[in-house]
Amino acid sequence: MELSSTKIDAYLQCPLKYRFRYIDGIEPEETSAPLVFGSAVHGTLKHFHKRRMEGKKLSSEEVAAAFAEDWEAACAVPVKWNGSSPEQLQEQGIQLLNAYLEAAPISEPPLAVEQKLHAPVIHLGTGEMLDGVGLVGIIDRIDPGIRPVELKTSSQSYSQLRVDISLQFTIYSYLLAYYHECDEIDGDYEIIVKTKTPKFQRLSTHRCIHDFDRLFRIIKSVSRGIESGIFHPSPSHMFCPGCDYAKECVAW
Ligand code: SF4
Repeated sequence: MELSSTKIDAYLQCPLKYRFRYIDGIEPEETSAPLVFGSAVHGTLKHFHKRRMEGKKLSSEEVAAAFAEDWEAACAVPVKWNGSSPEQLQEQGIQLLNAYLEAAPISEPPLAVEQKLHAPVIHLGTGEMLDGVGLVGIIDRIDPGIRPVELKTSSQSYSQLRVDISLQFTIYSYLLAYYHECDEIDGDYEIIVKTKTPKFQRLSTHRCIHDFDRLFRIIKSVSRGIESGIFHPSPSHMFCPGCDYAKECVAW
């Protein structure tokens, strides 16, 4: 079994939702507008940083042109617009990217952009390995000094706690620690906040052997649950209202 941060998160949020999505293979009928929006902004910044690796810094006009293409591609799937309009969001995307270009500390070129890494699940302290379980992750950017950088668009600022406990960031740090044979990783979050005047936020965070030990035990528990067919509903006011599987859940 190959697990990713999205799959582990889905199982932890609601095992039944995990089953509908990853065991039964039911695709959501529509993608939410914030997801489509985030993926288009992501795509443009990936292009921007890839060009930096080649020694070229794109102007704001070039970034806006790249975003127009990414936006068109992102809107090609059925989208749950929920009252927002594609034109309005495209304009907001350009504003967010300009805020990023103005405020993000852009110095040395990155070592990698959208780096996909696979690794076995090993307890880095004891050497215990989870048989038959692998981990995969795509790291947005790796800066010099082997610093993973995670890029987010968000309607509100992130707290330091949110980045310090992010399971996704622990997974990316583990993958890098495994490949570079180290037991500590420092990295950063770059967040573009969708306020009326968009703002840029950068938070640094750290992962160590203690975090990798907890990650190992979380993955052990999740993978055992999946192998044993434990897929119960986990109703929650946070996740049920936006769940793509409400119909299937009622019929369960
Ligand atoms: S509606 Fe709630 S309980 Fe049902 S599958 Fe979705 S998240 Fe789980």
